[in-house]
Amino acid sequence: TDAPIILDQAGIDQSLDAMARAIASSRAGEPLALVGLLSKGDIIAYRLADRLRTLGLEVLCGDIDISLYRDDIYTLEARPSLRSSNLPFSTDGMRLVLVDDVLYTGRTVRAALNAIFDYGRPARVELACLIDRGGREVPIQPDYVGHTLSEPEQKIKVHLCESEGFDAVTIG
Ligand code: 5GP
Ligand code: MG
Repeated sequence: TDAPIILDQAGIDQSLDAMARAIASSRAGEPLALVGLLSKGDIIAYRLADRLRTLGLEVLCGDIDISLYRDDIYTLEARPSLRSSNLPFSTDGMRLVLVDDVLYTGRTVRAALNAIFDYGRPARVELACLIDRGGREVPIQPDYVGHTLSEPEQKIKVHLCESEGFDAVTIG
């Protein structure tokens, strides 16, 4: 594509390596699980889990689809609900890391926290995102970030091998 490239394939790899190392070195005593937010956050989560296992950590992995749970959809007549989840383990007492591709207003993560705490009682919850776009509307910040946009709030495209056949983050 002709769009300005924020991260190429090597940049995505390096970002994920650094995020995995940071998650691994911030050791809490609790068992670790990554929870990806569909779509794309799940792909990032599974890639991070592979890296964490390579670093010798045991890690569970699941995903949730929160798109109907955003509080700005509460105005619709339909009651918002968790669209789907694939969390085939108890989260009680666990260290959970929510994983998404892009963090923007924070509303998706806020809703994800609701769903997570409806589901169980984790010991702690952290947040990892590949790209921080800025533009937060709620007091939520990531613990692990691949790349923070130097010009905040630009809309970006995340291409991943698993979904688009190639890895790149571009303006778009
Ligand atoms: P938020 O709820 O923080 O406003 O938005 C985060 C969610 O919307 C994430 O799941 C993310 O995938 C998606 N999102 C927000 N902004 C962008 C963007 O500029 N590009 C892409 N690809 N996704 C975005
Ligand atoms: Mg997403």
